[in-house]
Amino acid sequence: MSALALPATARQRDTLLVIDDQAVNIQTVYRTLAADYEVLMATSGQGGIDACRRHLPSLVLLDLVMPGLSGIDVAARLKADPVTCDIPIIFVTASSDSEQESACWEAGAVDFVTKPFNPMTLRRRVQVHLSLKHQAEQLHHMAYMDGLTDIPNRRYFNQRITVEVATARRAGTPLTLVMADVDFFKRYNDHHGHLAGDACLQEVARALQRAWRRPADFVARYGGEEFAAILPGVGLADAAAMAGALRAQLHGRALPHGDSDCAAIVTASAGVVCLDRWDGAPCGADALLRQADRLLYQAKQTGRDRACVAAADPARGA
Ligand code: GH3
Ligand code: MG
Ligand code: MG
Repeated sequence: MSALALPATARQRDTLLVIDDQAVNIQTVYRTLAADYEVLMATSGQGGIDACRRHLPSLVLLDLVMPGLSGIDVAARLKADPVTCDIPIIFVTASSDSEQESACWEAGAVDFVTKPFNPMTLRRRVQVHLSLKHQAEQLHHMAYMDGLTDIPNRRYFNQRITVEVATARRAGTPLTLVMADVDFFKRYNDHHGHLAGDACLQEVARALQRAWRRPADFVARYGGEEFAAILPGVGLADAAAMAGALRAQLHGRALPHGDSDCAAIVTASAGVVCLDRWDGAPCGADALLRQADRLLYQAKQTGRDRACVAAADPARGA
């Protein structure tokens, strides 16, 4: 799945995109479905691909035979594009050619409706595929997002760090990994209660998101009161400022902590490791995590409410 979907409660009315070169066919589909869905239309294959990227419809109804790009071409391109590859495609066609029908399945169709169609059949097919899609999105959300803070969980982080390290290495660009841990959080729970502890973790997650909000930044709950962030493009020169942004966010929120030895408010310590150079031995995701963890330990040992920042050490293994 290319992107995380919103949970069902946050969803608007579904949008369908009809791609067909014949206006009369589009009208027939429109009349059948407009009462239940937003229906967008495109009258050429290329126009359909553009509309799909722009509007990201929930489902595409695609004609097979069109001048220029055929339905099969359109389906193949939508499936090859990570932005549109998860959008289900139903072919709507007058063709009864068995080979063409097979080609539609192979191009990635989820279903096939022949013209002239029974309106109820089309409605039901659309309903079934939307419901399957929404269920898959919900499962994906549950598997990859943390239930308490609604930010990515450790499973998602582990996938992402591997991809980001490989991408940075290919491009030769820097990358920074942060491990942050709330200070004296056990005592926070003991002093303020576990429910307040939960609310505090939600606030800390918001603070992290506010501190690092460039589109490429990735913040996750690593476990318990520990968070991890990947900051692509950030090297040693900028890492201290990035770490400072988190501290500023937490101090700005000034959430009272009634039993902390380092401040009267909720603070966090961070280990920040920066990969600037790709010319030595390769430094993999696991080595980065270990080094960030060691730096986090140092931050805890030297007083908490601070970050320890260092360049990644390729000698410490891939
Ligand atoms: P340090 O400053 O050294 O990090 O000390 P600490 O007390 O923060 O660290 P420790 O690992 O001893 O305690 C972490 C606590 O975090 C213990 C655990 O009950 C609490 N915790 C973990 N997950 C949750 C959660 O989801 N909600 C709440 N309320 N507490 C949690
Ligand atoms: Mg802690
Ligand atoms: Mg901890």
